[in-house]
Amino acid sequence: MVTLSARATDDSVSKLAEDAGCARGLDWIAKNSAWVTEQQIRLSEIPAPEFGEAERGKALAAIFQAAGLKVRTDETGNVIGESAGSQPGVVLLVAHLDTVFPAGTDVSVRRDGNHLVGPGISDNAAGLAALAGLARALSESRVRTKKTIALAGDVGEEGEGNLRGIRALVESYGSRLASVVAVDGPSTDYITTQGIASRRFEVTVNGPGGHSWSDFGEPNPITAIARGIVKFSAIRIPDNPRSSFNFGVIEGGTSVNSIPSRASVKVDLRSEDESELSRLEKALQDAMSAGVREEIAWSAPGANNETLSRVNPFNMDFKPIGSRPAGKLPSDSPLLATIRSVDSYLGNRARLERSSTDANIPLSLGIPAIAVGGGGKGGGSHTPEEWYDPAGRDLGLKRLYLAAIALAGLDR
Ligand SMILES: [Zn+2]
Repeated sequence: MVTLSARATDDSVSKLAEDAGCARGLDWIAKNSAWVTEQQIRLSEIPAPEFGEAERGKALAAIFQAAGLKVRTDETGNVIGESAGSQPGVVLLVAHLDTVFPAGTDVSVRRDGNHLVGPGISDNAAGLAALAGLARALSESRVRTKKTIALAGDVGEEGEGNLRGIRALVESYGSRLASVVAVDGPSTDYITTQGIASRRFEVTVNGPGGHSWSDFGEPNPITAIARGIVKFSAIRIPDNPRSSFNFGVIEGGTSVNSIPSRASVKVDLRSEDESELSRLEKALQDAMSAGVREEIAWSAPGANNETLSRVNPFNMDFKPIGSRPAGKLPSDSPLLATIRSVDSYLGNRARLERSSTDANIPLSLGIPAIAVGGGGKGGGSHTPEEWYDPAGRDLGLKRLYLAAIALAGLDR
């Protein structure tokens, strides 16, 4: 295996690593893992709920500024630091600022042995810390590249952000954008080359409401939604194309002894295949409507629904709240060849993955894009017990650093 990996080593990446400037950057990375970890903890402890990323963005901007990048914040809230190239073209490395944790969540980070524990410490404080490390490594190395290297902390990747940050970045760079690397979470063992399509919905049921005792028999929006959920959950979800669903947030009602006048549920549907996703969307709509009809039938057996709905309006609203397009990096893409060469040089093994990330947007538009981790290990993503272990972080940083310079081209 040793000879195989040596033979596969790409000459251009090993030459790149020997360049005096690049070597200084690699050396900085090897010696400064602790600094990167400090930035990670600091950024992770600044709350960044959906649509509330500004404070964390400012802290990242200050790190970019101190590293000598040309920094700006766009009107969407993305924080961008650029190392200008000598020629047109932009290589964009992007990490999302936002977390899934609502405002008010305790985001303090605690140490548990080698683990850092805290909501968002891996997803995506690990990615943001990687950008911080890259910014410093680039400035220490003083390398000049042909294409501009742009580092961006972007908004709206999680939850209902609907990828608005990356959409704005891709639009503003336009045809100058040569390739995009999304840095999301920990790890060095995968390369996401396929963007999974997703569609998100909020299903709301409104009814007359009432008293739990004296109005018993009126249709109940919570029960209607529960019936719909049970119906949809019973359908078969294919393994191929791989698909998924999640009822993620359920709300409604005011007190235990009131029939609610409103209830809603938020649903996330995903698939490798857009047409399967359309089928699931239709099935969800049918199941939730059937749940409502069943609840109406229960409340007034044999009643004319039209009369019932006039007297006691009981209706459903099916609203799309997000959509991510699918996309796939061609297997002969130079971007993939570059990251493969870097992996081969570093002795890193990575499998190809499918996921739903910032890379979906450029991929859906035919712009070469991948998503990778920022290095180190982590787990418990999207839970309060989320953890990160910095061991091996320098491998992730070297990987990103070499990939960024190889993609931008060294201007000797
Ligand atoms: Zn993430």
